[in-house]
Amino acid sequence: MLKPVLSVLCCLALLSTPARAQETPIKIVASFSILGDMIEQVGGNDVMIDTLVGPDEDAHEFQPSPEDAKRLRDAEIIAINGLHFEGWIGRLIKASGTKAKLLVASAGVHARVLNHADAPKGESVVDPHAWQDLRNGQLYIKNITAALIAARPNKSESFKERARTLIAKIESLDRKARERFSALPASERKIITTHDAFGYFSEAYGLTFLAPIGMNTEAQPSAADVANLIHQIQKQDIKVLFIENMTDPRLIEQIAEDTGARMGGTLYADALSKPDGEAPTYLEMMKVNIKRLLGSTR
Ligand SMILES: [Zn+2]
Repeated sequence: MLKPVLSVLCCLALLSTPARAQETPIKIVASFSILGDMIEQVGGNDVMIDTLVGPDEDAHEFQPSPEDAKRLRDAEIIAINGLHFEGWIGRLIKASGTKAKLLVASAGVHARVLNHADAPKGESVVDPHAWQDLRNGQLYIKNITAALIAARPNKSESFKERARTLIAKIESLDRKARERFSALPASERKIITTHDAFGYFSEAYGLTFLAPIGMNTEAQPSAADVANLIHQIQKQDIKVLFIENMTDPRLIEQIAEDTGARMGGTLYADALSKPDGEAPTYLEMMKVNIKRLLGSTR
């Protein structure tokens, strides 16, 4: 009598799709390269990442195509930074008709809110570049891990294990960065970059960044903004300027020429390098930025 019952159970198990779905990789669309890498580090072979704004590309200026809407349609999770970084994502999600879950990697971050002098009617502006503080990076990893576990509870141990390893590396880099930057004399802590992407970095590691372009690269600086910056560089005797991997270097190069300040190299602001470049992961990107900032202020 036992045999028929067992075979019925067996067939029911074969028919139940959730068990099979648990084994397929989670299809995830990530809005930009830094986030795509973080998810891949935690998800390993259990995720399939499709990144909208790739290496060395600028998410602020991204203009989604109808093709991008199709990419969202089939996703199980759509991962974004949040904090208004992806101003275009709401329209894109709507156009796609996707049923995907939304993962906001910056959820729980203590956001920098600035009263932007240039904003209409003195509106406040939220700084989206939270990943530039390695402690926030750890929070991103925790949010990602929770979302992956919710999608594939049976893989929870491997997600947690990869997250633990990555968080330990991020923590260790954060500790070293704090030690090294705190040893820098105040006169060597002023840095110029293209756009205002390093506010969280400044607060975490005690540097001052000045930039001709605000937090959103879509806004172009006026001649008066640039003249004002040149004046500050000369007055404060700032000696090093940095370009960013995803913005046009010409403005900074021109400012260097006008002020006699030297170029300190490339910082990775809102995107990773290409896979064969020097900053193909979040951890590598932060290592390169820290090394370059410490190295060229001397
Ligand atoms: Zn930016």
